[in-house]
Amino acid sequence: MKRFACGDVVPGCGAAFTTPDEEGIFAQVVPHGAAAHGIDQVTPELAAAVRAHIHQV
Ligand SMILES: [Zn+2]
Repeated sequence: MKRFACGDVVPGCGAAFTTPDEEGIFAQVVPHGAAAHGIDQVTPELAAAVRAHIHQV
């Protein structure tokens, strides 16, 4: 399983996601970023930052 804690990229956010693969992480993080943080576009830099903080669990 893969795990991503949003707080690793957005300090203070308590949301965390655990999915079978990296693709699943993005499928949850993108709508979360839009709803919780007003991020309407996932830039390559943001995607890289998220990817850098995805951990194997
Ligand atoms: Zn968040």
